[in-house]
Amino acid sequence: MKELIIIKYGELTTKKDNIKFFIKTLVKNVEEALRDIDYKLEYDNGRMFIYTDKLEEVKEKLRNVFGIFEIETGYELENNDINYISDVLKDLVKDKSFKTFKVVTKRSDKSYPITSMEVSKKLGGVVLKNKKDISVDVHNPEVTIDIEIRFKKAYIYFESEKGLRGYPVGVQGKGMLMLSGGIDSPVAAFLAMKRGIRLEAVYFESPPHTSDAAKEKVKTLVKILSKYSGYIKLHVINFTEIQETIYKNAPHDYLITIMRRMMYRISERLARKNNCKALVNGESIGQVASQTLTSMAVINDVTKMPVIRPVACLDKLEIIDISKKIDTYETSILPYEDCCTIFVPKHPVINPELDKAIEYENLFDFEPLLQKAIKEKEIIKITPEDKKFEDLL
Ligand code: ATP
Ligand code: MG
Repeated sequence: MKELIIIKYGELTTKKDNIKFFIKTLVKNVEEALRDIDYKLEYDNGRMFIYTDKLEEVKEKLRNVFGIFEIETGYELENNDINYISDVLKDLVKDKSFKTFKVVTKRSDKSYPITSMEVSKKLGGVVLKNKKDISVDVHNPEVTIDIEIRFKKAYIYFESEKGLRGYPVGVQGKGMLMLSGGIDSPVAAFLAMKRGIRLEAVYFESPPHTSDAAKEKVKTLVKILSKYSGYIKLHVINFTEIQETIYKNAPHDYLITIMRRMMYRISERLARKNNCKALVNGESIGQVASQTLTSMAVINDVTKMPVIRPVACLDKLEIIDISKKIDTYETSILPYEDCCTIFVPKHPVINPELDKAIEYENLFDFEPLLQKAIKEKEIIKITPEDKKFEDLL
């Protein structure tokens, strides 16, 4: 008998044609998450089996892997003989304290001589006989004893926890995340990764108007996000010259509109160069002047690439809730200036007009500046294991 962790795939199994690719991607992601731990992994179309002495460490890592439906901790029995299962179960329940239980049996070995119901009944009887003051409760049991009868083997598990669900990161290819250091874009990142999008990130900085601390904050956010996906490549774009040029040349009520159009242009080019199929950002409808539907339309006009806005329809409190759960909130609220906040005009236009935006942009030739900013980008590869932001200060 071996202790092990079993991963159930859940939602993946609805994607019939892609199932092999989905499972392979999940296996790869699990292997990356467990890189520093000793374990052995086997899998088939229905389950992944992880054998290890470090059950808790493994589970801790698996909790951050998308595409896992459930994580079970239990035992693998080397044969599926019902008497053997009964004997093992008898020993196992001795050490567990619970008052109510039920047994649920699944049989993937359909040639097995007795039905699932009969197995549950027999094993339920074994538990009742070997523990005092205990009863079956099929509706709300303290413990569910899961039995799985598979070809030549059987599994018993008492503990079952919900996985992160969603799709394995990577099954949808890559997206380019516009990451600002605020609350919204890390949450957008998490939700996009949950749909299977592997992310690269772009951050626009405007030194000396923005500080190194602001950049370190963004790096910390990427590090936290990389827990859920493995390494993330961060592109840092120096936006100062473009921003100052907009400031000097365009009417101030259009500063943000034009600035965001420039960000979109650069993000799209980076995305195409790096095989990303979409842009991902933290825009939320109505949150600020640049996020009215009219503003979004005028800004979006510069790109043909799909722009995924996972938090578009959430309100701030819902976004904050998620950011707390995924561990980015405390970093997001650190008070470092963002490049947008520095150039925020007193009265940004709420309903910009596309013709005007284009007209103002044509007052200056931005193309060489865009090219220069992209050429001089800094690339930082970030993994979950690097030093923490606090260690860098
Ligand atoms: P966040 O939306 O992340 O909380 P924010 O509210 O300060 O930050 P907004 O001004 O609402 O940012 O910008 C909307 C979106 O535009 C951000 O969610 C982010 O995706 C993108 N963005 C804004 N500023 C930057 C930046 N400096 N670098 C990269 N992307 C940015
Ligand atoms: Mg925002």
